[in-house]
Amino acid sequence: MGACGSCGARSRAGDETCAFCGNDLFEALNTAEVEELSRVFLTTLNESLKNANGPRVWAAVPCLAIFPVLAYLICRYYQTGWIATGTAIVFAVVLALLVLGLAVQEEQELFFERSLKKKILDFLEEHRIEKTRFLLAASKVMPAKSEILKHVAKL
Ligand SMILES: [Zn+2]
Repeated sequence: MGACGSCGARSRAGDETCAFCGNDLFEALNTAEVEELSRVFLTTLNESLKNANGPRVWAAVPCLAIFPVLAYLICRYYQTGWIATGTAIVFAVVLALLVLGLAVQEEQELFFERSLKKKILDFLEEHRIEKTRFLLAASKVMPAKSEILKHVAKL
């Protein structure tokens, strides 16, 4: 319950404009409120981002088995020594991990563009938070290494 700052008429909680004079009743959130709201919101988005595995990831997972086996077979074919064979297998595993990492990044990028970006823009509009203010709050309340932060910075 509040009173309209313009005409003094009583307003119900949740009313955005005064029913009598149309005055804007929206109370801007203070910094602590924006930060807490952003923290809860972004933590949820960050979780869904981490689970955003798609076809690229599923296609990259078998590389973890295929690459080392291929390396092993090639080494057998050329009859290289065991040190060279071992090195080739380690290299193949590292390469497969790199491919997997890129696939995960790519899926997260797509998921952010397709789904999360709109959620964030709706969130900003609903709470009337400016983008700059949101970015400041996000960088303050979210761990620097959180995935969502990398994407949010590009909004
Ligand atoms: Zn009023």
